[in-house]
Amino acid sequence: MNKGKKLYEGKAKILYETKDKNIIIQHFKDDATAFNNLKKASVEGKGVLNNRISEYILTNLSQCGIKTHFIKRLNMREQLIKKAEIFPIEFIVRNIATGSLTKRLGIPEGTVLEKPLLEYCFKKDELNDPLISKEHIFSFDWATEKEIQIIDRMTLRINDLLIGMFRGIGIKLVDFKIEYGKTWNKDRRESEIILADEISPDTCRLWDSKTEKKLDKDRFRKDLGNIIQGYQEVARRLGIMPEETNISEVNFGKTIPLKFKKK
Ligand code: UDP
Repeated sequence: MNKGKKLYEGKAKILYETKDKNIIIQHFKDDATAFNNLKKASVEGKGVLNNRISEYILTNLSQCGIKTHFIKRLNMREQLIKKAEIFPIEFIVRNIATGSLTKRLGIPEGTVLEKPLLEYCFKKDELNDPLISKEHIFSFDWATEKEIQIIDRMTLRINDLLIGMFRGIGIKLVDFKIEYGKTWNKDRRESEIILADEISPDTCRLWDSKTEKKLDKDRFRKDLGNIIQGYQEVARRLGIMPEETNISEVNFGKTIPLKFKKK
């Protein structure tokens, strides 16, 4: 599938057109950003790992009946996906309190939540993706009540499936963010809601079950070092990367602040 015009470039991914108007290419960059773009760096190898990890997770979810945008992986950094109208909402699921929840409400770090907590944020970088309620979503027509009902149900099922997937490899799924889109049939009479974007250590908090060592983007946010080794550990435990592969030996894993990065 040939790459067409660039449709959109985000912080960690680029989308390209293909000849088929319903199919696009999702390219994973090495760029890492945090705190609404205030902190930026290039983490060598991150794009490759996220491409593989997201492919693995979405394929597994789809085998359990979750409709997703994923079609197939094209190469190390790119995958073919269905084009969808993305809801302007980030859907956040929390199983253990950390991050903005602890800051906002003073809930002690590490509190295990009795049941998963769903949060909604408005996707708007200029406003720092503010937390919103369902009422905001309905008032401003960002999604209908029926759509949110379907999405909430899908989200909780995805959480159950992911908790199980990670528990099996000694990882606690602390929280994560997902996005959904809508695709239409030919005469635009019927639509379907599908899981979009990515699921990777960029969008999840993943802690080692025993040591609680962070294996996700918090290594970058909090300057913990060994970012790529964390992502690599997730890939290795999921069985995506052969045991003996060590990304740092093939010159991966270097973190280069973006302003110093050579073109
Ligand atoms: N998250 C994300 N993209 C965002 C905001 C959050 O992928 O733009 C993920 C984040 O990695 C974490 C979860 O959503 O797994 C909850 O994030 P939180 O609100 O605690 O964000 P923080 O501001 O602490 O990064």
